[in-house]
Amino acid sequence: MNSSTRYIGEPYAFVAADGAYVTDADGRRYLDYHAAFGAILLGHNAPEVNDAARAAMDGVDLTGLGVTELEVALAERIVEVIPSAEQMIATMSGSEATAQAIRLARAVTDRDLIIKFQGGFHGWHDAVARNVISAPDKAYGRDPLSKGILAQAVDSTLIAEFNDLDSVVDLFDRYPDRIAAVILEPIPHNVGALVPTKDFAQGLRDVTQERGAILVFDEVITGFRHALGGYQEVLGIVPDITTFGKGMANGFPIGGVAGRRDLMEHFNGRTGDVLMAGTFNGSPVACAAALATIDYLKAHPDFYERTHGFGERMRQGLADIVTELEIEATPAGFGGVFALYFTKAPVLGYRDLMRNNDAAYVAFHRGMTERGFLMLPMSLKRNHISGAHTSEEIDRTLEAAREVLTELRN
Ligand code: PLP
Repeated sequence: MNSSTRYIGEPYAFVAADGAYVTDADGRRYLDYHAAFGAILLGHNAPEVNDAARAAMDGVDLTGLGVTELEVALAERIVEVIPSAEQMIATMSGSEATAQAIRLARAVTDRDLIIKFQGGFHGWHDAVARNVISAPDKAYGRDPLSKGILAQAVDSTLIAEFNDLDSVVDLFDRYPDRIAAVILEPIPHNVGALVPTKDFAQGLRDVTQERGAILVFDEVITGFRHALGGYQEVLGIVPDITTFGKGMANGFPIGGVAGRRDLMEHFNGRTGDVLMAGTFNGSPVACAAALATIDYLKAHPDFYERTHGFGERMRQGLADIVTELEIEATPAGFGGVFALYFTKAPVLGYRDLMRNNDAAYVAFHRGMTERGFLMLPMSLKRNHISGAHTSEEIDRTLEAAREVLTELRN
């Protein structure tokens, strides 16, 4: 076992992955929308990325001793493409990145509390492991993801409602001068795809600035996937700190923290006062893979036209099917990410998701998997279209979805 969240129902064991497809140990081939929870962006085993990683394996292997050219090149590239990045540090995972971001926010503000949103997921560590997909009686209340987390850690994270600025302002009013940071997935893909209104996103930028708190965009899923500059580029909003991971290196383990120079300087080992450590941080292989992924995206802006176009077709196709079949369901998403909620529109915040028919989603997922389409197994999650999916595959997926949804209705 390597994770509490990978095995819902029967465990999967995979033996091969290529482009948009994965093959399991029984020889079944699936069209993959799971994408390893979004770690695959260009497609499985993208040659540009794997070649760069292979070359790095034969290069300097001294992770943990100093800095490599690859790490510097990656930091420079992130600064070039991400609007909020003036400096960047590579970690080995998204959880490490968000843990560091929160520590930094607490250090620079000298405050103790943080705000996250009901439904947002930012990794497994104690500061954020609460209130993701909560049962209706636990939502907005006390809902740690695990035993073993100190009560103080759970209670130091306050829960607000996505797309409801008043719920954030209310917490700032209730805890004056105590909130160090607001952390959010700019689109909470851990509950599908709650797309922020422009007013909400701008409101978060304004309120954090007014109240002296740090705004952290957790772009572990949205980063590089929705635009080269992340979803912040789409929104035109510059957070103080941004965290990365997942698709950034097309399957190789990496994460990153980037942000304003005056904040990031606190991590400076000689002059700063915030600890940032990790033996494998800046791993040359991971940095080479990330650099190759980002360089591919830079050189192929049509990646975004293509995945966004396919995503749009998928959402529209699903919308047409559910309208025709008169099923209470709402397709959602952005760019190449799509979700199917089994509830009526509009779906703006977690409150709307509490009406979701989870059993219907599980049945939909099962029907799609049986037909060879691999999707995230939990209700309310999202699916990913990678650079390797084709137009014909989107059509086949919609045909299968029509069959499954027709069966579901009957
Ligand atoms: N942030 C977001 C938005 C995530 O979805 C995840 C993982 O699913 C993380 C952080 C944690 O990343 P990792 O699993 O690499 O630790």
